[in-house]
Amino acid sequence: RDPTQSPLLEIRNLKVHFPIHGGIISKKVGTVKAVDGVSFSIGRREIVGLVGESGCGKTTVGRAMINILHHVAPDVEISGEILYHFGDETIDFGKLTSHEVRKYRSRVQMIFQDPYASLNPRMTVKQIVEEPLKLHTKKTESERRNTVINLLEKVGLQAVHADRFPHEFSGGQRQRVGIARALATNPDLIICDEPVSALDVSIQAQVINLLKQLQDEMELALIFIAHDLSVVKHISTRILVLYLGNMVELADSADLYAQPQHPYTQALISAVPIPDPEIEKTRELILIEGDLPSPTSPPSGCVFHTRCPHVSERCINERPKLRNVNRGHSVACHLVL
Ligand code: SF4
Repeated sequence: RDPTQSPLLEIRNLKVHFPIHGGIISKKVGTVKAVDGVSFSIGRREIVGLVGESGCGKTTVGRAMINILHHVAPDVEISGEILYHFGDETIDFGKLTSHEVRKYRSRVQMIFQDPYASLNPRMTVKQIVEEPLKLHTKKTESERRNTVINLLEKVGLQAVHADRFPHEFSGGQRQRVGIARALATNPDLIICDEPVSALDVSIQAQVINLLKQLQDEMELALIFIAHDLSVVKHISTRILVLYLGNMVELADSADLYAQPQHPYTQALISAVPIPDPEIEKTRELILIEGDLPSPTSPPSGCVFHTRCPHVSERCINERPKLRNVNRGHSVACHLVL
């Protein structure tokens, strides 16, 4: 079944621009185009990977999805639609105030990159995991305690951990606490913002496997944000590659790995190690030269043209449109017909 046929979430032409102020009277002197026209959808029980290097806008897309950008930057300019389909109800999160969005927060949760910074160090694990239950459910104290213990066990922790504080745990265990908290309200979607980047490589696979298993068991949809394609490879159904706030490629995971079409995706994939040592020996790394341009003054035409090995005159003058090249596979590059 095509997960995009009855999507849980549809993002249409999302733009997130941060004004830059300068001078004595702090007038607007420029704009950071963090996200510049992103559209995609996520089906129920689907896992979509959002990939790109730092500064590509992936975290901003994640934050826009739960409408928390105004907390970070009150004057942020957001346009486009962030449509959630909850049963018969369709809600545009972008049009809701922070107060209105609270009503739906239980259905969309987020897990952050740094589990230490995102967990209140003065609260016990029980208090941390219990907080969303207090906010969004009418459970009694003893029901909440039982739910917390169940959730801890679900994420591979134990009841004895409930009365401990975050600093008593390893990074991987803290991320498990963050996951238990995100699961507490039985959400439809969890946005995982680089959930394993701060963890040791040996722990990363355990946390990814846990998320996959929980997604399956609890019929969740996940957005999995990562800067590295190897992290999302085994977990995502579809992958969206972003560059400088723009969509460069969107495809089924298998399709993207087998036939990456955009030069940027091809370079990212060439950097993914292959477990078979014989094939790994033949892997050719495509290096992307130069630094990521500033999103305050993005390049003309194709935003990737300053680093693309195939750049031509047309690329400098004309921005490529995102085009469907195959069923469910879209690419924004003049070379791809
Ligand atoms: Fe490279 Fe041109 Fe394609 Fe952009 S449009 S990715 S610069 S070939």
